[in-house]
Amino acid sequence: MLKKKNLIFVGAPGAGKGTFSAILLEKHPLAHISTGDILRNEIKNDTPLGREAAVLMKEGKLVPDEIVAGMVKKRLAEKDCENGFILDGFPRTVKQAELLEEALKELGRKLDAVIYFKVPDETLLQRLTARQNCKKCGAIFNKLFMPSKKENVCDHCGGELFQRPDDSLETAKSRLEVFYKQTSPLIEYYDGKSLLMSITELDKDKITAQLFAELE
Ligand code: AMP
Repeated sequence: MLKKKNLIFVGAPGAGKGTFSAILLEKHPLAHISTGDILRNEIKNDTPLGREAAVLMKEGKLVPDEIVAGMVKKRLAEKDCENGFILDGFPRTVKQAELLEEALKELGRKLDAVIYFKVPDETLLQRLTARQNCKKCGAIFNKLFMPSKKENVCDHCGGELFQRPDDSLETAKSRLEVFYKQTSPLIEYYDGKSLLMSITELDKDKITAQLFAELE
């Protein structure tokens, strides 16, 4: 059982939020709430929200706070979140953090920990531009650091691997800028609430060990 199970994963794009969510979920049945995944699903289904989000995401900009906070509030009220959750990529602004706090209060829940994955910019850009995702199951690979066994084929389900359009070098750079301007104030915000744990390690096994030591 986890000691801490209502979690936020924060970090710049490419910092490993998705990768370490998957590692934690292999062992613990938490609900995985990735606002990026929810938005990509809206785009796939060609909904009005998806069409609005697609323009912003392509430029590496953030989708408006009220929209993403509303999506997350709805998701948190679902049954599977009762056992705990990982918020991956949300909140991304202090306003979103405040809206989250209100939503959790209404649901009678509270946060247990905010994990900050701190990674140098050169590494982030190298990782983002070499990242590959599975079209079928969403698994994450990296051509340089975590390659699939067979080129462009998912190890888990055999699905085709692709590069996210916003992982191009140009958009990745804008997303990093957006992180420092709009998201990084959250680090201080959650530190002030004594919820923050920073991971500065870059080795996958060492990060995994630190994560489990903090949460289990
Ligand atoms: P991600 O998959 O978390 O890297 O998110 C991809 C893109 O979706 C971001 O660059 C934003 O355009 C949008 N997005 C995801 N989460 C949020 C959020 N919490 N607030 C605003 N925009 C978001």
